[in-house]
Amino acid sequence: MDRYEKLREWMVETQIIERGIKDKAVIAAMKKVPRHLFLPEELIDDAYDDRALPIGYGQTISQPYIVALMTELLELKGDEKVLEIGTGSGYQAAILAELVKEVYTIERVEALAQKAKKIFEKLGYSNIKVYMKDGTEGIPEEAPFDRVIITAATPKLPDPLISQLKEGGIIVAPVGERYSQYLLKAIKKQGELQEHYLIPVAFVPLIGKYGFDS
Ligand code: SAH
Repeated sequence: MDRYEKLREWMVETQIIERGIKDKAVIAAMKKVPRHLFLPEELIDDAYDDRALPIGYGQTISQPYIVALMTELLELKGDEKVLEIGTGSGYQAAILAELVKEVYTIERVEALAQKAKKIFEKLGYSNIKVYMKDGTEGIPEEAPFDRVIITAATPKLPDPLISQLKEGGIIVAPVGERYSQYLLKAIKKQGELQEHYLIPVAFVPLIGKYGFDS
């Protein structure tokens, strides 16, 4: 076992399992994906710390527990087509790629999208497609999606993402103000969303037509 694998085991035991994450597939994915490879060189040794970290361009990679929690909330079975808004480092997309059939991820900062593409290639994640555009509009030509995960703070769930979600599908997103939000899990039933607000969180803003202004 290399040093990073050991750190990952420790991260999963102390930050993920101890805090109540139960989904075995999520736990296995968190143990497997090399989080340190998604970070800027100078932060590699902090990769398994219990916190969010900067990835450049004013953006952040989420705390490991939040990644695990949001993934568990998606209730994945393995055959889903998932849409992620906010590729960032690509770490959350890689976790999803371990658990489902297809991941579509959208990033508005070109340099981050390019970097993420490279690491997906390097690690062999051929089931992730990266799009460079305003993610609040979704990907109409690839809809519908079984699941949608927004990894940036939004004032409300963007309408296009609600319409691109399948009946019975789940959206997980931080919804609220620019600097503080609640994690929302919403399930689409008979065309209506059943909403469950969970815990307070702090994400960087979702910027776009159906998000924050700039
Ligand atoms: N999921 C990422 C963390 C994302 S941080 C990870 O695992 O590392 C939020 C990201 O959302 C940032 O990279 C930011 O540039 C991006 N973002 C913000 N608004 C966006 C929009 N409208 N469309 C796509 N990406 C957006």
